[in-house]
Amino acid sequence: MENFRDLRSFLEALKAAGQLLTISDPVMPEPDVGAAVRALSNLGEGMPALSFTNVIGYPDARIVMNVHGSWANHAIMMGLPKTTPLKEQFFEFAHRWQNFPVPAESHDKAPFREVSITDDINLFEILPLFRLNQFDGGFYIDKASVITRDPNDPGHFGKQNVGIYRMQVKGRDRIGVLPSAFHDMGIHLRLAEERGENLPVSIAIGCDPIISLVAATPLGYDESEYEMAGALQGAPYRIVKSSLSDIDVPWGAEYLLEGEVLCGVREPEGPFGEFTGHYSGGRSHPVIKVKKVQHRRDPIFEHLYLGMPWTELDYLLGLSTCVPIYRQLKAAFPAEIVAVNAMYTHGLVAIVSTHQRYGGFAKAVGMRAMTTPHGLGYCKFVIMVDADVDPFNLPQVMWAISTKVQPNHDIVIIPNLSVVPLDPGSDPAGLTHKVIIDATTPITPDIRGHYTQPLEAPIGTEEWEKRLAPMLRSLAHGNGG
Ligand code: MG
Repeated sequence: MENFRDLRSFLEALKAAGQLLTISDPVMPEPDVGAAVRALSNLGEGMPALSFTNVIGYPDARIVMNVHGSWANHAIMMGLPKTTPLKEQFFEFAHRWQNFPVPAESHDKAPFREVSITDDINLFEILPLFRLNQFDGGFYIDKASVITRDPNDPGHFGKQNVGIYRMQVKGRDRIGVLPSAFHDMGIHLRLAEERGENLPVSIAIGCDPIISLVAATPLGYDESEYEMAGALQGAPYRIVKSSLSDIDVPWGAEYLLEGEVLCGVREPEGPFGEFTGHYSGGRSHPVIKVKKVQHRRDPIFEHLYLGMPWTELDYLLGLSTCVPIYRQLKAAFPAEIVAVNAMYTHGLVAIVSTHQRYGGFAKAVGMRAMTTPHGLGYCKFVIMVDADVDPFNLPQVMWAISTKVQPNHDIVIIPNLSVVPLDPGSDPAGLTHKVIIDATTPITPDIRGHYTQPLEAPIGTEEWEKRLAPMLRSLAHGNGG
């Protein structure tokens, strides 16, 4: 199994697989970099990472984008052939999840300690910053691992949290941050503020691909992202201590920013073009004061474009949203749950395929999905389908909805539940009705509809699939007939 200790080793692997495109022509930071990555997403599937080596105004910078921006790149991250189908990647991911926890490996030294800045910190000089979308309220850092500890239980390794939060650079050493109340960092901040204390924070920019993925994964509150990264990569995850606090950070980071979230301080933040395909608007959000910056001598600045799906964010969040909900539902209903597809707008829509025990069961599972850690802020629509419907196959899902749903029985609306305030439809922000669409076949005691004559494929279909597959491959290679 591949084990990428840092971003660089992963970029090498992408390059070797033809999944890294270098743009060495001069480009403007705005709008070129954002536009190029948007264009890449518009052009289809299987896109490479983009490396910009000649950005006007930033002569020494190397900016990489779209690192997780295709299922091919995901497969390479997992050490799989780059053509591995998505559903296979889902089950492989879920399989490795079972190895959790794998203890992390502590190191004393780290490459990011090569350059250290504590006086006159100026993030506008240190980082090659630029706006992604034209009406963003400022320069953002949106793919960094942000690490905090539980102020009431600071020695608890699992309660230490690694998460990705959007951050707006607002001053030379000042960053606005957006941790929602239901995120682990939001909990840490609330606890620190109840104590009347600042919350120490470390921000790692340009990390290995696994920790970025896990940082974007909704784990349980006391589950360690580092121990999950170890499980997913099949080897202990490398960590090193911050210098100003007890916080553990990824060994391979390109940049490390250390500081504190200021107790009780809120300042306007935003607007920012979000994964919902809408600007977020501006609201009052917490502020980080940066006290120390370390980076490699020739640091790579990794950044992420987001906007109307699909973008790199949808790939980054795709399986890392599906698998935890799958594992959490499976823990409650091990014999029934088959697969979960929660890839749409970070799981605002989730499709769950399940066996049923009795009439009404699927609706109850749908409610359970809404109370998983991620479901509390997402899962606005939960579509329940039978075990023989592949939730990753949308035509099959549409078939199930169109034929199995009787609106007066199978659409359940639950009023006024929590949702991510970034959902542009939530009103007031953070509150929404949620819907279960039960597209499973009614079973006893639910005896409705005419479902006793399901149409099965003609006898011999499977045999023909096997017979035709090699013929189609050979046709594709030009040897047909
Ligand atoms: Mg956590």
